[in-house]
Amino acid sequence: MTTTTSVRNPATEEVLQEVELLDEAATDRAIEASARALESWRRVSPADRARLLQRFGDVVDEHLEELAQLEVRNAGHVIGNARGEAANVRDVLRYYAGSPERHGGRTIPVAGGVAMTFPEPLGVVGVIVPWNFPMPIAGWGFAPALAAGNTVVLKPAELTPLTAIRLGELALEAGLPAGVLQVLPGKGSVVGQRFVTHPAVRKVVFTGSTEVGRGIMRGCADQIKRLTLELGGKNASIVFADADLAAAAAGAPGGAFDNSGQDCCARSRMLVHKDVLDEVLELLRAPVEGFRVGDPADEDSAMGPLICADHRAKVASYLDGRDVLLQGSCPQGSGYWMPPTVLRAESPQDPAFTEEIFGPVISVLPFADEDEAVRVANDTEYGLSGSIWTRDIGRALRVARRVEAGNLSVNSHASVRHNTPFGGFKQSGLGRELGPDALEAFSETKTVFVATD
Ligand code: NAD
Repeated sequence: MTTTTSVRNPATEEVLQEVELLDEAATDRAIEASARALESWRRVSPADRARLLQRFGDVVDEHLEELAQLEVRNAGHVIGNARGEAANVRDVLRYYAGSPERHGGRTIPVAGGVAMTFPEPLGVVGVIVPWNFPMPIAGWGFAPALAAGNTVVLKPAELTPLTAIRLGELALEAGLPAGVLQVLPGKGSVVGQRFVTHPAVRKVVFTGSTEVGRGIMRGCADQIKRLTLELGGKNASIVFADADLAAAAAGAPGGAFDNSGQDCCARSRMLVHKDVLDEVLELLRAPVEGFRVGDPADEDSAMGPLICADHRAKVASYLDGRDVLLQGSCPQGSGYWMPPTVLRAESPQDPAFTEEIFGPVISVLPFADEDEAVRVANDTEYGLSGSIWTRDIGRALRVARRVEAGNLSVNSHASVRHNTPFGGFKQSGLGRELGPDALEAFSETKTVFVATD
């Protein structure tokens, strides 16, 4: 039975489009088409596969503004960010277009002959994408998977399917054979689950909440299915007394409120040395209160709305009955708006300080010394990213090595680059995406021995 979902603009609450949601039978047909496409795709020569991915990147580039404007309407991302996200898909495609011709095996001297290894494609890869970064997260999955010779079925989030659907069309326009990359809008419990249970899907790449990721990992265990998980985060920004405090304070709102805080890498916990706490809070005042929240299509907006009414209610519940230290403003009326807010954590156990709010909320907690800062930063089930602000290079490296997280920045809030590995420690994930090694996660090593005696 076919059902549809009403895709809304979160800045206006208006319905943008009705999108058909696939049922299990339609998902099975798409997976079977993907398995058939695999037979020819894996035989496309590495140079031709590289050219097709390069061409796909070029077509995305030609449609950059269209994709960005679509994301502004569907996800409420501010236009500057949305352009960067479309450009990220292009860059990831171009980066992995360089790899099919470099993805070779080894020869290993052994008694009685020669052994050689081949990186073989896994087969059909199922990519499950969340609503917070619909374009980049899709690209981080499909670009290396295709480069390694796999075919891909991709399920966008129910709330944000439009750019993924368009990327699927652009792949065909670029000349990728039908069935090689298919975008399947649908429910997680139907299409996403089928990726987990269908035996022809040999790997699942899941980005989303830790709770759902845990269930997917359990499901994949039944078939020993390969799995990459990119899950939640509650990332700490540690500001030492010797830091460039003005730079740390100027960067903190962007590091936490970017994409309305709906970012697994958001620095939503701010640990500040007690001697400079007052100074840092004063420095934070202007950038927090002046953080421009408004129409995401407006070039001057720094932050748009939250994704939907339920999510806004969840974020707002963390502010109920609390004194706020600092707060910006936001539009009233239609749209799922929330002002950027800074809270003082009541203790290291304060839920606002420990739970992934996924909204524009920073919780600040003072610390007394380096050991305490590291202990508090690590006192979480998550381990995705974080920042260290100090002028002492020894301390910067020492603390970076001690913080249990996959991606750390010193004197910066930047987290993700397409050319470096990205992923989480602890319950923030399993495996790494992006960077030079991502193809390994989409290949199986085969060893072939040839007797010479
Ligand atoms: P979610 O877990 O609710 O959904 C993610 C995707 O999984 C959606 O496409 C959804 O339809 C699908 N899904 C839901 N239930 C499923 C099931 N039972 N089987 C298969 N698929 C299912 O997450 P969300 O609310 O869309 O996204 C927010 C979360 O994603 C946050 O926790 C955030 O930290 C995390 N995230 C992590 C990263 C990272 O790289 N570590 C990046 C972005 C977002």
